[in-house]
Amino acid sequence: MKIYPEEIQAYRSFEHENSEQLLLLRPEVIKQVHKLAQEHARWLGTHSLIHRFINLLVLSSNWVVICWISFFLLPRTGNQIAGLALLAVVNGFFIYSLSNFSLHEGAAHKNIFRTESLTDRLLRVWVNWTPRFFFADPEYYRAVHFRHHQFLSQDRDGAFTHFVWPKRFLISLIPLAAALPFCDYKIHTGSTWSRSKVMSEITSAVFFLGIGWNAQSSIGWWSAVGFVVGSTTIAFWLDRWRESLEHQLMPSSYYGARSFGFNIIGLIIGGGPWGQPCHFIHHLAPGLAWYQQISMHYQIRKILNPRERELYYVEGFSQVIATSLRIIRLNLSYSRRLFHGSQT
Ligand SMILES: [Zn+2]
Repeated sequence: MKIYPEEIQAYRSFEHENSEQLLLLRPEVIKQVHKLAQEHARWLGTHSLIHRFINLLVLSSNWVVICWISFFLLPRTGNQIAGLALLAVVNGFFIYSLSNFSLHEGAAHKNIFRTESLTDRLLRVWVNWTPRFFFADPEYYRAVHFRHHQFLSQDRDGAFTHFVWPKRFLISLIPLAAALPFCDYKIHTGSTWSRSKVMSEITSAVFFLGIGWNAQSSIGWWSAVGFVVGSTTIAFWLDRWRESLEHQLMPSSYYGARSFGFNIIGLIIGGGPWGQPCHFIHHLAPGLAWYQQISMHYQIRKILNPRERELYYVEGFSQVIATSLRIIRLNLSYSRRLFHGSQT
């Protein structure tokens, strides 16, 4: 993720002019959040077996779906465009879901297999390698994400997205943009080469070539390549939509994020329940398991006043669309102002 000082400047202008709307949480809400987070953390500490079993189920079922679609269903589509497109979309979602889960909850937060037991340490090797199958670099992400939590919305935020140029977002929508050098609005891998990045690129190349090779004899190379390009592009689009909605134009605080909640659109953008449908809660209590974040989303919902809820909770299709459009409109307006300001 490239950080542009101009974007930070644009956000500061927005923040200065909209301080009335950028509500911070009341102290009693923060107090209640900490109380609930402590209760959840205590439960987590004494139920590691259940936690391990749930996450084992999530990881393995995601892998089974991706492999089943890519290696079994794809060669049997009979080269029908509609069937291929449907498989690419479904597979794209699961690629996004698994890579996001293993990269964020696993590699960055060590929230999937948490203890120092031999079992968890071995399972962590599997979790930490999983993002490498999808062009993601867990070592880069871990370092950047740590600074993201520590300095959210500040100059040192490793993934500053409180304001993003519309042009950068649009470039990220070009098919295969995730792998293109001129797309710098991405967080799964860095722009410079490292040993870790090379390992990810080789692992992904072997995996996707294997999918293509397995399918090409029955559906041809063009259809196989179309499936790979289509599914990886869908995965990246969902990832960009989520990250563009989470923090943009939110208050400058360690919890300045939006939560989508447990609903269809929230789960699609969030990458499933184990993805990030409740990012506001995650920033308030980063050590909690994904299912606890969802539970806390609804516990905290009850104690927020209507204005706080409107700002931090974006629930359901109409709110997601309205917020997305509002962000685009404000971004264009502040970008234009900044651009014209620099011309005079
Ligand atoms: Zn995080």
